[in-house]
Amino acid sequence: MSIAATDTGRPAWRLLLGYVRPHRRSLIAGAVLSLVTGATGLMLPLVARDLIDDLAHDRAITGALLAMSALVIANAAVGALGSYVLRRTAESVVLGARRALSSYLLRLRITAVDRTEPGDLMARITSDTTLLREVTTDSLVGLGTGGLTLAATVAMMGLVDPVLLAVTLAVVLGAGTVLGVIVPRINRASRQAQDAVGVMGASLERILGALRTVKASGAEHREERTLHEAAQESWRQSVRAAKWSAAAGNTAGLAMQVAFITVLAVGGARVATGAIDIGTLVAFLLFVFYLMSPIQQVVGAITQYQTGSAALARIQEALLLPAEPAAPPAALPSAGVEPAAVAFEEVRFRYADDLPYVHHGVTFAVPARGMTAFVGPSGAGKTTVFSLIERFYEPDSGTITLDGRDLADWDLPRLRAAIGYVEQDAPVLSGSLRENLLLGNPEADDDALARVLKTTRLDDLVARLPDGLDTLVGHRGTKLSGGERQRVAIARALLRRPRLLLLDEATSQLDAVNEAALRDTVADVARTTTVLVVAHRLSTVTMADRIVVMDAGRVRAVGSHRELVTADPLYAELAATQFLGADD
Ligand code: ADP
Ligand code: MG
Repeated sequence: MSIAATDTGRPAWRLLLGYVRPHRRSLIAGAVLSLVTGATGLMLPLVARDLIDDLAHDRAITGALLAMSALVIANAAVGALGSYVLRRTAESVVLGARRALSSYLLRLRITAVDRTEPGDLMARITSDTTLLREVTTDSLVGLGTGGLTLAATVAMMGLVDPVLLAVTLAVVLGAGTVLGVIVPRINRASRQAQDAVGVMGASLERILGALRTVKASGAEHREERTLHEAAQESWRQSVRAAKWSAAAGNTAGLAMQVAFITVLAVGGARVATGAIDIGTLVAFLLFVFYLMSPIQQVVGAITQYQTGSAALARIQEALLLPAEPAAPPAALPSAGVEPAAVAFEEVRFRYADDLPYVHHGVTFAVPARGMTAFVGPSGAGKTTVFSLIERFYEPDSGTITLDGRDLADWDLPRLRAAIGYVEQDAPVLSGSLRENLLLGNPEADDDALARVLKTTRLDDLVARLPDGLDTLVGHRGTKLSGGERQRVAIARALLRRPRLLLLDEATSQLDAVNEAALRDTVADVARTTTVLVVAHRLSTVTMADRIVVMDAGRVRAVGSHRELVTADPLYAELAATQFLGADD
């Protein structure tokens, strides 16, 4: 199914058809089997009429009984096969939706992630997609086969006795009017129930992401209440939906009972006047009985679609979030390739239209090779420089170039393949140490890995751990110390052999010995790679080939430490008060 096709905001059922289309053959097969099941059921009244006829005329009933048994067995066997095929198809539809959503999720723009609750997205992928199962089988197939069976039954009833058919239809139409009122309520309640599941997911994610802080803040009870309220809201809305679904189902059921009684009364009168014989009345009553199932199927299809379309709408919303274009992965640059030059030219940027500008015309140029330090007060826009280079966001105006080429003209995977990036918070993913290190370059060989472990001084840690590189690091690397996490993040970036290395306060949590070692490593890397660092340590800053001083979204000055100390008062102040000591 194509995700791009949904970008125009189509109605929910179009989205569903997109997921169903690849499985249309098995869906049709399942529907045909259901129809055959319905048809075998439909023939029973006719055989029953023969049987009564045979009895009335003192004929042997063996033939009719055999035919009935055969029909009943065929009905059960075909019915079982049909429901298996349908269920299987429905699961494939769920699979398709989950795959599409998962792929989309990984392509989401960071801007989309900034304004979305991850837990809610998770609920859309796991819980809302599950609802597609019922929509596929019950709605699509139910509407198709139920509708066809209904039409066939009605046609047969018309053949048997048009007058009784008119009586039946009058009752059914009355019920239809009531259903028209009930059904939209199911949709509303279902939507709210699914939204509440999303809220619960978001809450859960928030709490589990910071359980230590929640506990340390003694906030368990308040957070518990939030979770319970979301669960309660989902319950309340699901119960409302259940109430209306039950009302819908029973309205249909009641209509059938009423039809049965009415047909019995009117038909009885017609038998008395001799307009029809008793066999016809029995056959008709059986048809009314058999009408029950397709009607309930159609009503079920409609109510189920209301639940499903609420889920579809939520899936569709996720698919409308801004995402990067799908692109094949790019190979990492081969060893020995030239380092990259970076330049910002009058870059203006804000994180959202309703937020103030964070960059007010940032301009600087960094030549290939060597180390450039970015310094400035917190909130100056240093991290934003790196985010823009990675193209997590697009500048509102101005240009950013890599190797003199506008970032917008770069193939995104190729651009990112050229860069090694250590985020400010040095995130480590759950999984093993090895998985974390190889995240950015799964093909790195053991030699490269050993070398990088040595330069980032992780070799001692790995030797100490009982499972070595296969040690699990816990959620977000909680089983590692802050400094260890930072070293893992640096090692991961180095393993990519980047043409441009971005280090955002990457050594802030290292002890003096490790920091000094890492500084040497970075200096070494800077001989063959372009390195940009955001740093607060004077030792790192003074070592840089040039320093870019940023303040409030502007570049104040560029120069060497010696130049800046005399030329730039802000830098002199930072150097005097904010930078950590020359060498601890
Ligand atoms: P620095 O790294 O120099 O401390 P940043 O580049 O991280 O500064 O942030 C610059 C400004 O942008 C800050 O005021 C910060 O609050 C804001 N900011 C950073 N990230 C986001 C974001 N994802 N959404 C909205 N505002 C942000
Ligand atoms: Mg920062």
